[in-house]
Amino acid sequence: MGAKDFLLVGGGVASARCAAMLRKQGADGRITIVGAEAEPPYNRPPLSKGVLLGREDPARIYPYPQDYYERHSIDLVLGATIAGVDAAAKTAKAADGREFAYEKLLAATGASPRRLNIPGSDLNNIFYLRTLPESLAIKGMFKPGRRAVIVGAGFIGMELASAFVQNGLETTMLVRESGLFTRLGSARLSKFFEDYYLSQGVKIVYNDSAVRFEGGAQVERVVTVQGLSLDCDLTAVGIGVAPEVGWLQGSGVELSNGVVVDEYLQSGNPDIYAAGDIANFYDPIFKKRRRIEHWDNAIKQGELAALNMLGQNVAYDTVAYFFSDIFDLSWEWLGDNSDIDATVTRGSLADRSAIIFYLKENRLKAAFLLMQSPKERLWVERAIVEGLEFGPERQAKLADASYPLDAVISAQSS
Ligand SMILES: Cc1cc2nc3c(=O)[nH]c(=O)nc-3n(C[C@H](O)[C@H](O)[C@H](O)COP(=O)(O)OP(=O)(O)OC[C@H]3O[C@@H](n4cnc5c(N)ncnc54)[C@H](O)[C@@H]3O)c2cc1C
Repeated sequence: MGAKDFLLVGGGVASARCAAMLRKQGADGRITIVGAEAEPPYNRPPLSKGVLLGREDPARIYPYPQDYYERHSIDLVLGATIAGVDAAAKTAKAADGREFAYEKLLAATGASPRRLNIPGSDLNNIFYLRTLPESLAIKGMFKPGRRAVIVGAGFIGMELASAFVQNGLETTMLVRESGLFTRLGSARLSKFFEDYYLSQGVKIVYNDSAVRFEGGAQVERVVTVQGLSLDCDLTAVGIGVAPEVGWLQGSGVELSNGVVVDEYLQSGNPDIYAAGDIANFYDPIFKKRRRIEHWDNAIKQGELAALNMLGQNVAYDTVAYFFSDIFDLSWEWLGDNSDIDATVTRGSLADRSAIIFYLKENRLKAAFLLMQSPKERLWVERAIVEGLEFGPERQAKLADASYPLDAVISAQSS
């Protein structure tokens, strides 16, 4: 294998896994990760869960130990922001003037929280959550009895509300939509989460949004479109993220809701790939473009990009999963339920053990798993990837929690 120089832009898990896979596959060129944060790559999921709950030591959120990169001759350049790419010269330039040459470049700069630009946005104690320092700053605010307003009911807002309540904060969620977690596209799940959150003491305001923050030096209340004035000691905003593509402007790489890449994660420029939250990729399983903002996808795509940068031509052939932990519940989501014609429920949400299967023309397209094991998740992934058929009889077996899932699949294959 000829030595090639790989430049991985972005210091998140997608880059880390890409670098590790490149070395594992025997790449012997220079591998450089350039990341804007001061920290080596780390896993973000604990930032809104274990770290805030004091159950996870921040020192343990790194996928690789600190000396891993040196041992594998991976140059880790931290605290450096790439500002632009000259695709003809095959160089990337950092904001501080440093220049990095490459033969293959991975764009893995992830996504950044969307900001609420309303009057009072610059008051103290208004938090966003993407990084370890932000998580620790939020944790530093925890004191029983403090009042918090959380703006947004996506996965960050939901997890923050869970952590806040468990730390004794009086918590109100301010939700623009008429239900929680509407992104899941399921009124039934929104209702399930609503009942659960209300039972845990979370207050919820629907169909309303913030128009301004008020206070002295720090936020003291959130004023809403409907005229509510919600008193608070702190606010956390979770209203979605936007892909970090600014540095690729002018490089010739197509940008549209992220970096446009094919099923090999390759852009229109054969030397530039993208992986993780930033990648708007063609998903051959769902036969459409998708951009997925989840940890498992960032890992899988980082590794896949490595294989393809080495010329292996492996198409995306997996269904990434998303997981969340709230209060004492764990749940997972796989697939895409935007175009389905049937749902089958196994178990029961009320009993806190369930799988909801989403089907289109008798093929499994997505599933919500509540308090299940990796075995069930892997089963669902296989059923989606293989496009297995679930006619009425098999759907009845899916719905029967006493009928083993494995037996449903083996009945199919025979
Ligand atoms: C609080 C929190 C909780 C989460 N929980 C879950 C969960 O429970 N389950 C789940 O599936 N997913 C979860 N996620 C999502 C998951 O963490 C992301 O999908 C994953 O981090 C994406 O990895 P990435 O490498 O693509 O990008 P990122 O993790 O965003 O890393 C990109 C890195 O690139 C850096 N960067 C940006 N621009 C530049 C530039 N121009 N030059 C150099 N560096 C740059 C950024 O600073 C960042 O360090 C969570 C995310 C957050 C923030």
